[in-house]
Amino acid sequence: MIAAESAVGTVSFYINGAWEKPQGRTTQPVMNPATGSTIAEVPFATDADIDRAVRTAHDAFLKWRNVPVVDRVQVLYRYKSLLEKHTDELAAILTRENGKTKDDASAEVRRMVQMVEVACGMPTLMMGDSLNDVAAGIDCKTIRQPIGVCVGITPFNFPAMVPMWMWPFAIACGNTFVLKPSEKVPLTPTRAIELLHDAGLPPGVLNLVHGGKEAVNALLHHPQVKAVSFVGSTPTAKYVYATAAAEGKRVQALGGAKNHLVVMADADMPKTVEAIIGSAFGAAGERCLAGSVLVPVGDAAGPLLDLLVKRTKGLTVGDGSKNGVEMGPLVTGDHCEKVGSYIDKGLAEGATALVNGREHRGGDGYFLGPTIFDNVTPEMTIAREEIFGPVLSVMRVQTLDEAIDLVNSCPFGNATAIFTNNGKSAREYSSRIEVGMVGVNVGVAAPMAFFPFAGWKASFFGDLHAHGKDAIGFYTEQKVIMSRWF
Ligand code: NAD
Repeated sequence: MIAAESAVGTVSFYINGAWEKPQGRTTQPVMNPATGSTIAEVPFATDADIDRAVRTAHDAFLKWRNVPVVDRVQVLYRYKSLLEKHTDELAAILTRENGKTKDDASAEVRRMVQMVEVACGMPTLMMGDSLNDVAAGIDCKTIRQPIGVCVGITPFNFPAMVPMWMWPFAIACGNTFVLKPSEKVPLTPTRAIELLHDAGLPPGVLNLVHGGKEAVNALLHHPQVKAVSFVGSTPTAKYVYATAAAEGKRVQALGGAKNHLVVMADADMPKTVEAIIGSAFGAAGERCLAGSVLVPVGDAAGPLLDLLVKRTKGLTVGDGSKNGVEMGPLVTGDHCEKVGSYIDKGLAEGATALVNGREHRGGDGYFLGPTIFDNVTPEMTIAREEIFGPVLSVMRVQTLDEAIDLVNSCPFGNATAIFTNNGKSAREYSSRIEVGMVGVNVGVAAPMAFFPFAGWKASFFGDLHAHGKDAIGFYTEQKVIMSRWF
């Protein structure tokens, strides 16, 4: 279904159950980051396109909300089967536009399926509470009702999974949806929605538009949009939160990260190193859960860094679609340059490069090798800012208390991990750390569909987190009904 590299086509909008090839819109090329070639053109929606998509969703809501929840989820059951049948195809599209390896892409599609599986349980998840005889002869119950048109605005790094944190839950609750994925990677969501169409979703229940900040603004200000789910960088998350909240909309805005991996001297070093490699360099560091700062405690540093540096130098970097490649390219040439400039800053500000990714040479794509900096201090740029690439900074401390203070002083609070064989250290760390997702001997505390997911502090703006039970809270309104019968 996706154009071959030699036959670049314009990506479509999906509005009211029909695919539209918009004419005369501003377009932007979609690139294969492994080759640097253009694979498609993405059209940017105008205000009129957004208005049409939202109005369509609103009209569809008036019918969809009355479809019994047990019938609404039948579409999702059929969709799950289609996703499973098309896993390899979806993963290949994902690798082609985002650059992540085949394995990373397949893992992402599996997470997608899990989100659908949980949303299929909506008849149970949406149940309210009841209590008879709150006063003599008076019964009380809560019911959950959908809120209306919900919007999803998603980032480039998980174009298959992140939209699924949102719309399966939203539509299973009886809402309708407008999805605006990242303009850098529109092909994966397009294929995912083609499959949803094949699963028999009624027209207008989910609509797909493309574009950048103008499209986002039109959505945030549209009077028929009731709720906004956003995932992306912190400055955009903050803006989306403030703008949509000022319009009286419900908002959950997940932002950026700077994740610390703390290693105690009693940790299992070989297993810890494998976990750190996956966390820091998996998906080329383009994960909100990527380990970005390594914090060896006391005597951990020596044995840990020996093993880690050796393993890092042996990583195979290349086109993610090829077998045996462990790390793919960065998503765009601009992003690759930006990450490279952090490596330059690290060197200029006095950090020691144990491994320098700039030395990697890799074809026409947007490749950088993995980088490890030692002797990083808190005031350095690489210690403070989200890099979102395969750059790991080492900040050594002497005690667990020092490690906790260092992590808690970071303005971000998305994810962290501790590696130790000591239950007390793990418990202490997990309970005192001001971070939303914590791994214990797990380098990536990955999103589990049945649990909520979001960071703290500058990594999240809102109240209810993504998926899990929070999604039902976010995508429904509660009503209390008190009855007495004479
Ligand atoms: P981004 O903020 O540049 O873009 C995200 C979305 O916002 C896109 O759809 C984009 O079109 C739109 N957008 C961009 N600039 C905008 C603006 N000025 N006004 C309105 N809309 C705008 O993020 P990205 O580069 O696509 O993704 C990477 C970022 O996402 C990283 O910071 C990463 O940590 C974060 N992220 C966070 C999570 C999480 O769960 N917290 C998950 C994945 C990614």
